[in-house]
Amino acid sequence: MPISSPKPAARKSNPSIGVPFGSLLDIEHLTAKEISVIFENASRFHSRLAKNSSRQQLTKVLAGRRVALLFYEASTRTRVSFEFAAKNLGAVTTVVTAAASSIEKGESLVDTGYTIQATGAEVVVMRHPSSGAAQLLAQHLHVPVINAGDGMHEHPTQALLDAYTMLRHKKSLRGLNVLIVGDIFHSRVARSNIQLLSKFGAHVTLCGPPELLPALASSLAPGIEIQRNLENALVTADVIMMLRVQKERLEGLNLNIADYVANYQLTPDRMRLAPRDAVIMHPGPMIRGMEITAEVADGPQSAIVEQVANGVPVRMAVLTRALGIKK
Ligand code: ASP
Repeated sequence: MPISSPKPAARKSNPSIGVPFGSLLDIEHLTAKEISVIFENASRFHSRLAKNSSRQQLTKVLAGRRVALLFYEASTRTRVSFEFAAKNLGAVTTVVTAAASSIEKGESLVDTGYTIQATGAEVVVMRHPSSGAAQLLAQHLHVPVINAGDGMHEHPTQALLDAYTMLRHKKSLRGLNVLIVGDIFHSRVARSNIQLLSKFGAHVTLCGPPELLPALASSLAPGIEIQRNLENALVTADVIMMLRVQKERLEGLNLNIADYVANYQLTPDRMRLAPRDAVIMHPGPMIRGMEITAEVADGPQSAIVEQVANGVPVRMAVLTRALGIKK
C-alpha cells in the first residue's frame, strides 16, 4: 500500500518559506534577532548542564517528545550531539541511517519522511548529501525539519555553535576578523558561517587555492575578502577556521595535495604570524597532517574540542525552538 501524506497538523507554516513553523533550514533566512535568541537559550542550557541539580530538571523540558534523526550521510559530532541534546531535555530519539549509495532524491526521501512522521516523530533532524533536501522534506511534512547539513548548501547548527564558541572567547562578533581557510567551495559550513557572520558585522576573509575557492565566492555576502596567501591572511585574524578538504566531493578537480599542504596547512611556524589571542577552530572531522598539524590542533589556541562540546547546548536551543518551547 502506498504511503499517503498524513493530514496537515494545526501548527502554522512559516509563510516566508512555506515550511512548518520551527524548522531550521538555513542561516540565510534567520534574522540576527532570532539567532541571538538561540544563543541566549543555548547559554542558559549550558549553565544548567553544568550543575547536577539543574541538569536533572532539564529532562522535563521535552519529556516524552519524539525526535527523529535521519542521517543519509556520515556524521559523528552532529549526530551524537543532536541525540544527546534531545536526551538531555528528556526527549525520546530514534536514529535512521542510510548508505549514501542507496539514496534517491524526490519521492523516496519524501516517503521516508511521511513514514517517520506517521510513526509519531514531532521533529525531524536530517543530514543529506543533496543541497536543498531539507527544504524539500520540510515542504512535505507538517512537523518541523532541522537541517543537519545538506550537500554543499548549508549546515546551520554548525555555524550557530561556531559563532557561540567565538562569543565565549571574544566580546562581540561585530568587527571580528574571521579567517576561513581551505575547501570553501564544497563547504556548507563555510556558507552558513559566512551568512551568520555577515549578519553580525564580522569581517570575513576566505583563503585557499582557486580550485577550492573560486573568485566568485566573494559574492556570497557583502564585504567578503579573498586572500590566496595564508601567511598574509593570518596576521590580522582573530579567529582562524580551518576546513577539511572534502575528498568525497573532489571528483573532476585537479588539486595537487602536496602543494595544498605546502601552502595552506596550519603549522606552528605559520601560527607565530597570527595574533597571540587568535582562536583556532575546525568543524571536524579534521585530518591531522593535511589542513592542520597535530601540534596546532592540540595547542593552547585551539578551541576545536570546545566547539564540539558547545554543539550540545546550541542544539538543545534549536530543538526547543523547533518544538515551540519558550524557555
Ligand atoms: N562536518 C562538517 C560537515 O558535515 C564538515 C566536514 O565534513 O568537513 O559539513
